Amino acid sequence: MATPDLPAAPRPIAEIASYHAHIYYDVATTRAVAEQLRAWIGERFTVRLGSWHDRKVGPHDQPMYQVAFAPEVFATLVPWLMLNHLGLSILIHPNTANPLRDHTVDPFWIGTPLPVHDEKLPSHAEAEAAPEPNTTPHLPA
Ligand code: ZN
Repeated sequence: MATPDLPAAPRPIAEIASYHAHIYYDVATTRAVAEQLRAWIGERFTVRLGSWHDRKVGPHDQPMYQVAFAPEVFATLVPWLMLNHLGLSILIHPNTANPLRDHTVDPFWIGTPLPVHDEKLPSHAEAEAAPEPNTTPHLPA
């Protein structure tokens, strides 16, 4: 007898339109660290560096900025962040048509995990494609 909770088929990778890395910091103690990491990312990766949020916004439990990137960037940026997160907490999540699941069920953390305030997230949305990059990388990762 089939287990009712198991899907009939796996979700296709094409559900993932893009990814975000949310890089968290503390305004008083680690903002300069976050600035260094942001500069290093911009020198090495074709991504969209988002605005600084020096206070909590949306589902995020600490100040952070977002790094939005296309699926093909994942295989270099994410391992690089594993080696270079400088002690910061980073949430990596896919962008599908279900932001709630993307942030709370399917993501992973580099560094120390933080709470995600899921009541602020919808379970249906248009999957977010990677925005136009705003970096000009010129260094190898
Ligand atoms: Zn995000």
